[in-house]
Amino acid sequence: MKSTAATTSPEALTADFAPRQAKALRVHEQLCAEYGAPFRFFSTKDPLSELVSALLSHRTKNAESHRAYQELRATFPRWEDVRDAPTEAVQQAIRACTWPEQKAPRIQAVLREISARCGTDAPCALDFLAEMPVAEARAWLESISGVGPKTSAATLLFSTLRIPAMPVDSHHHRVAQRLALIGPKVGEGPAHKLLEALLPPGWDAQQVYDHHEAFMFHGQKCCYFSTPACSRCVVLRECPFGQARVAPSPISPA
Ligand code: SF4
Repeated sequence: MKSTAATTSPEALTADFAPRQAKALRVHEQLCAEYGAPFRFFSTKDPLSELVSALLSHRTKNAESHRAYQELRATFPRWEDVRDAPTEAVQQAIRACTWPEQKAPRIQAVLREISARCGTDAPCALDFLAEMPVAEARAWLESISGVGPKTSAATLLFSTLRIPAMPVDSHHHRVAQRLALIGPKVGEGPAHKLLEALLPPGWDAQQVYDHHEAFMFHGQKCCYFSTPACSRCVVLRECPFGQARVAPSPISPA
């Protein structure tokens, strides 16, 4: 069974790392209790299918990217069929998701690159990533143009590989930022390394999955984008952003 690597990043050497890590773990416990962890893995896709699904899901609601994925599979039963089809036909099949005109050529380019690297006619299944250390498997995926840290982590964690790499979606990112686990200017991409560094070395895929899902659920059900429900938030006392919002207004002098 794979586990997260020991923390050796420069991030781990910063002065406030230990209190932030302790806070991340307290929040993890509270949110896991609130939303009912352990969570069941929602996907049973093989890693190549999960990779394509993750590429479709960027900035798209789950139901829409699911529809686009189903239509793509119904139209092109094999991944080499997607790779070799006219781009307009792929675009048409995935029209349910956002930006199909960008995603169709990107998916085809990723499938071409994987076929070239594997030296096979069909794009290889990516099961060999299970034999690599987590960081190496992520680097292999992220060296493909169009594959970023969220896509690589989703491919490794959500697929049948169940490798402990942590994706950070927009909900997870927003909650972590408001809790000051990362700085206010850290974007979603760079947040992956910083938030993963806060996880204890040795966490397995279920623990990493629970952490991500609990933060994501919190973003969906309480820490809303425009008006977070801070007054009923279970981690209010950990959250400087929330405390500033619910603090009583100072009484004006008479
Ligand atoms: S206190 Fe408010 S801003 Fe902070 S995590 Fe909770 S809902 Fe989000």
